[in-house]
Amino acid sequence: LDYYFEQIAASEHLNAFNEVFFLSAKAQALAVQEKIDRKTAGKLAGMVIGIKDNICYKGHIVTASSKMLDGFVAPYSATVIERLLAEDAVIIGRLNCDEFAMGGSNETSYFGPVKNAVDNQRVSGGSSGGSAVAVQADLCLAALGTDTGGSVRQPAAFCGCIGFKPTYGRISRYGVIAYASSFDQVGTLTSSVSDAAILMEVLAGADTHDSTVSNKDVPAYSTLLNEGNPKRIAVLKETMESEALDPEIKSSIEQAIALFKEQGHEVTEVSFDLLEYLVPTYYVLTAAEASSNLSRYDGVHFGYRNTSAKSLNSLYKLSRAEGFGTEVKRRIMLGTFILSAGYYDAYYQKAQKVRRLIREKMEVLLSEYDVVLLPVTPTPAFKIGENIKDPLVMYMEDIFTVLANLTGVPAIAIPLGNNAAGLPLSVQLISRHFAEETLLSLSNSFL
Ligand code: GLN
Repeated sequence: LDYYFEQIAASEHLNAFNEVFFLSAKAQALAVQEKIDRKTAGKLAGMVIGIKDNICYKGHIVTASSKMLDGFVAPYSATVIERLLAEDAVIIGRLNCDEFAMGGSNETSYFGPVKNAVDNQRVSGGSSGGSAVAVQADLCLAALGTDTGGSVRQPAAFCGCIGFKPTYGRISRYGVIAYASSFDQVGTLTSSVSDAAILMEVLAGADTHDSTVSNKDVPAYSTLLNEGNPKRIAVLKETMESEALDPEIKSSIEQAIALFKEQGHEVTEVSFDLLEYLVPTYYVLTAAEASSNLSRYDGVHFGYRNTSAKSLNSLYKLSRAEGFGTEVKRRIMLGTFILSAGYYDAYYQKAQKVRRLIREKMEVLLSEYDVVLLPVTPTPAFKIGENIKDPLVMYMEDIFTVLANLTGVPAIAIPLGNNAAGLPLSVQLISRHFAEETLLSLSNSFL
């Protein structure tokens, strides 16, 4: 723990942590040490873990990197936190992220952008940017993030770590600040597949506090990592032929495909003709869900409150106008419009239908193949400030990640080395609902 405290102090310029839990982490570490001595320690004893600042940890501040929740103290712990602590992990602090997890570059945070550790002029990715940089720069052993449309996998790809988003419903969302509830899922950022596997074993599984969590048994993922059976892998043709795809990413993925073949897997190129509908469908539905979820921040129940308001209505208006940042407001307004009586059928209903089509298409594909392979991002980490002024450019960065969230399937981003400029490159693998072990074992044997 002292080692990580020193690392954090030396890396303050990266802006990865919103807060380091010096006191509670030390107390936990001492308690765990005693358990280790008595040989009663849990599975995660010795693991020092950072948490994205949208996960509630009782008695600690949680802000979702928003002024709206500045100073808000979590009244209870998320299920994922309870489970980490029950297995004796040490929670070292809360990590910077995009405001309410809305963003893909960590530039919408009220606390400023997180810097990529390989090039401080470049973004960490987002929204779990602090989580990715904390693992990249060795500020903790592993980190939790959340992935609504790529927020674990995309920053992992930009920072050269492993980003794992399990099946929707595999991990409880209780105590995780909601963005778009039918998409949100907790995921892990680690530097090894085995760390991801052991974390999954602890985090996954039924929870009486969240009825969307599956009752399916949780496999002992960490014991299944060496299952080396050949897999049928489908490469999504349109993603590899996309004009937006950076040539160095493309060629590193082609090399990875050659390696998969050498390892005995059967790789086939298949067509996926719904690519252009992914980003629009994702943004219509997530904006709608966000506008509903964020209606609870009224200046009365949580966090920030305007102090000069003269009436209840102006208290609501001023608190929300001052408490939320630009991107969050944009999405609330867009979502409110999408859900309004005159446009509900044209946008919300339509997008739900398209989501259904996309899901059915993926189900057919995943009945014929074990794994789907595609890029994580069209480009490596871009410069801070480069895309933030044009939301549509920023949204298009999510083209390859939102597929797994629209369909609920598990997905992993694994590193493929660096480009000529030293920036991390990566590839994404997707498997069937609740086939996490397929992704973990395939990634483990590949790396
Ligand atoms: N970049 C995507 C968005 O802005 C994904 C965010 C996320 O997964 N939390 O919505």
